[in-house]
Amino acid sequence: MAHPSPAVLDATKLFDNALTSIRLGIEDFELSQKVRENGGDPARALSAVRNLFAGVLLLFKFKLATCATDPAAAAQLVFMPPEILPRGDGVGGVIWLPAGKFKPTTIDVATIEKRFKAFAIEVDWGVIRKLQACRNDLEHLHPANTLGEVADFVSELFPVLRDFVQTQLQLSPALLLGEAWESMLNHHRFVESMAEQCRVGWAQSGVPERMQAWLEESCCEECGSTLVAPHPDSLKAGLQVENDTEDFEYLCLACSHSGQIAERMLEALSDAHFYDPSDGEDPPLEECDVCGISAYLTHDQSCQWCGAELTYSQCVICYEGLGQDDQRNRGLCSYHANLAAKD
Ligand SMILES: [Zn+2]
Ligand SMILES: [Zn+2]
Ligand SMILES: [Zn+2]
Repeated sequence: MAHPSPAVLDATKLFDNALTSIRLGIEDFELSQKVRENGGDPARALSAVRNLFAGVLLLFKFKLATCATDPAAAAQLVFMPPEILPRGDGVGGVIWLPAGKFKPTTIDVATIEKRFKAFAIEVDWGVIRKLQACRNDLEHLHPANTLGEVADFVSELFPVLRDFVQTQLQLSPALLLGEAWESMLNHHRFVESMAEQCRVGWAQSGVPERMQAWLEESCCEECGSTLVAPHPDSLKAGLQVENDTEDFEYLCLACSHSGQIAERMLEALSDAHFYDPSDGEDPPLEECDVCGISAYLTHDQSCQWCGAELTYSQCVICYEGLGQDDQRNRGLCSYHANLAAKD
């Protein structure tokens, strides 16, 4: 099959293919979420994400193609532009010229984002990039490990797709996508109500205040879903996350797996503070001297778990900032503490 020439662009075909991909993606998604006994197939999670991602990108390209009335100009918006390279003008100046013609490949996510900015078309790129990352991860992981994560994305994608179809294309998503839309809507509502159930549960579970943000980032160890609720047994026993760090468990509402919630929150905290020892910096996270939990952030010198802060925050002589290790020197940095010891 010949490559599509950038000179011609069948916008209608782009649009039809987008809808087909999204419909197939939702069908795959439904099958991936069902158990095998009911004809389900978890392995479909990969094609669900692939199809949804492809469908959304095609829809975006269709929108770009409609930004120009001239078909050749429309094609140029959708295909990869030639590289711009410098060339000497022979008298010491430099001119920048496109090298070659438009490429036979259509634009990638990053380029679509730039084009959209140029045309003031707004999209929640955070969700799209997460979907892209999920697709890339799925290529390497067993789908079962990310089934919950995929379910989260389909729910998050729903408002993005709804707003885009309504505002940018001025069409009705329900009419366009029919049953697939109905299914996506139901799934979105289901996830929202589960998420609300989790929020209500955690609100009465004694989660340390500064850990709230990390709780929201916490996901099931088994399936990757963020729909983790306090375990009914932990609630019944009257446990509090803050005090019963070892014992308080979560229950995943997507796959019924349970485990220690503290560990999940601390993993989210440490993921957000990635540390490479070879870059010579101090680690951003330390074990807290007060509560013993690895939740002490060195950049703001406070513990995310127990709220502990420094008694002495700077050296009384040179004003150097102090850390947990310097506290035994009662307000002196290690250099001035050494000098004082020699006197
Ligand atoms: Zn799970
Ligand atoms: Zn602490
Ligand atoms: Zn000092």
